[in-house]
Amino acid sequence: KESGRNRIHFNYRSVEVAQRQSVAEWIPIITDALEEDRFVLYCQPIVPVTESRASKVRHYEVLVRMVDRQGEIVPPGKFIPVAEHYGLIEDIDRWVLNRIFDHLQYHPNKEQRFAVNLSGNTISDEGLKDFIINKFKSTGVSPQRLQFEVTETAAIRHFDRAMDFINALKDLGCYFSLDDFGSGLSSLGYLKELPVDYLKIDGSFIRNMELNEVDYSMVSTINHLGHIMGISTIAECVENSSQLSMLQEIGVDYAQGFLIARPMPLDNLG
Ligand code: C2E
Ligand code: CA
Ligand code: CA
Ligand code: CA
Repeated sequence: KESGRNRIHFNYRSVEVAQRQSVAEWIPIITDALEEDRFVLYCQPIVPVTESRASKVRHYEVLVRMVDRQGEIVPPGKFIPVAEHYGLIEDIDRWVLNRIFDHLQYHPNKEQRFAVNLSGNTISDEGLKDFIINKFKSTGVSPQRLQFEVTETAAIRHFDRAMDFINALKDLGCYFSLDDFGSGLSSLGYLKELPVDYLKIDGSFIRNMELNEVDYSMVSTINHLGHIMGISTIAECVENSSQLSMLQEIGVDYAQGFLIARPMPLDNLG
């Protein structure tokens, strides 16, 4: 009996140790990937829901993936949270920015705008603002070709620094989206203060809007609120045509999701 209890105790602890190791094991995996340049950028189009918003400029969200030593693609959900926790996200976000600046610099005539995700840690890193401003200077890339996606949780948590960051880059001509809107620690009071151009309505509302009246109303209310403030709206995770027609009915401006296109490698963009 005594030894039985010990065994259970031991097994429980070894599970705990194994879990702790598996998170810590990601640190060298991420730092090695950074050293060996084993990341790749995908991008996914964001398109107007109605003709009235049609424009010559193609708009994409940039999504990073890691490539492991066997050449397999590792999705960001696996390493971004670890990178955020262990202070490695700034390095990943800078890698992404360097790569996008290269693309923009070598395709000066393409009418493309890229929306880059920035973590809360990154926007509160004072050096990043200067890094981006210097990149515009050294590459000659037009700031109108770059957009940044910031989550409301990150923007609110680091409010003063986020405001400083957003204002400085908006002055240059960059655009901003508030990402995952409605899913985080939101306060509508803060939304009024944040000078963003786009609201991205969180995919969880889009996913359920056909079945759930409350989710449908959330989409419609967020859309209305955005428009009252002069902010364009984007629905993410649009997977079927009945969701798209509901978005049309509501008057959401832009849509992104598997229905329109899956994320594709940046290098495959025409
Ligand atoms: P996010 O910013 O909310 O990005 C949207 C996610 O939804 C992407 O997942 C995209 O592939 C996925 N998605 C797009 N359309 C659909 C759809 O119709 N259905 C469903 N179920 N999913 C769809 P992904 O690429 O795995 O990225 C996950 C998260 O990782 C992103 O969420 C973002 O928070 C983070 N992330 C990605 N790239 C970067 C980056 O370069 N820097 C930072 N800091 N975070 C990044
Ligand atoms: Ca995003
Ligand atoms: Ca999002
Ligand atoms: Ca998300």
